[in-house]
Amino acid sequence: MIAISACLIGVPCRYNGKAATSKDLMKALKEEELLAFCPEILGGLPTPRQPAEIINGTGIQVLKGERKIFDRLGNDITAAYIKGAYCSLDLLKKHGVKEAYLKDNSPSCGVTKIYDGSFTQNKINGFGVTAALLNDSGITVYHELRF
Ligand code: SF4
Repeated sequence: MIAISACLIGVPCRYNGKAATSKDLMKALKEEELLAFCPEILGGLPTPRQPAEIINGTGIQVLKGERKIFDRLGNDITAAYIKGAYCSLDLLKKHGVKEAYLKDNSPSCGVTKIYDGSFTQNKINGFGVTAALLNDSGITVYHELRF
């Protein structure tokens, strides 16, 4: 079984209430058994929700308690992101998942890039919180443009 960010297979769970369906990824994984999950929903956040960014850091630093995540209104929602990451890890472990395809640029699911916390569309290299935790826990994470 392979895990996948739910928004990539058409679930409208992004902050703006939309999906980010990847037809190429769906085609590439069509023979696989997929487990769709959304860390931000597992963390208790509503949909739609305000966009949020890790402030001047990466998911690894959030997990270490060195950085926080704020939404665009200035609310500290770090705890929900951390909860979502650990709930995701539990879910994937329960299903014996070893690989996950995740939506890049997200503060949860980003694999190669995330936004820098300035809410100006600037990106930096690094994992989102869930991607960092899964990677640290031995689950191989790929971004959605691998194919
Ligand atoms: S947290 Fe991940 S799965 Fe959920 S909407 Fe954001 S990118 Fe998609």
